[in-house]
Amino acid sequence: MPSINRKHKIRQKPTPYAHHTKASAQYYHNNLWTKLAQWYKKHHPFCERCEAMEKTTPATQVHHKIPFMKGITDEDKWKLLLDEDNLMSVCDQCHVDIHNEMNGRKKKITDLLDDTNEDKTIQR
Ligand SMILES: [Zn+2]
Ligand SMILES: [Zn+2]
Repeated sequence: MPSINRKHKIRQKPTPYAHHTKASAQYYHNNLWTKLAQWYKKHHPFCERCEAMEKTTPATQVHHKIPFMKGITDEDKWKLLLDEDNLMSVCDQCHVDIHNEMNGRKKKITDLLDDTNEDKTIQR
């Protein structure tokens, strides 16, 4: 039976991040993730991408190195979502950049995209 989506009931702010989609929202909206993200930020208070470039920027968000929606089963998705090793503290700007890179908008990092090609349709 198809479920009815009542859009007017839950209002979600649109985000620029590819993995923050409606499908992923059900994973984000839970206490486990919220707590883990808070905990992770406490332990990694600065943007890890800026740190790599020898800048110190307070982290505002927690990014998943491997998008958890890449998990095939529900269990895989939860594992990726809640795996500390898969997390990365980022600032707003880096988060946008990372996702732009992942989407190939600015640069093509084909190495990173190797196993994330599912969104690509062949355009000739
Ligand atoms: Zn940064
Ligand atoms: Zn992200």
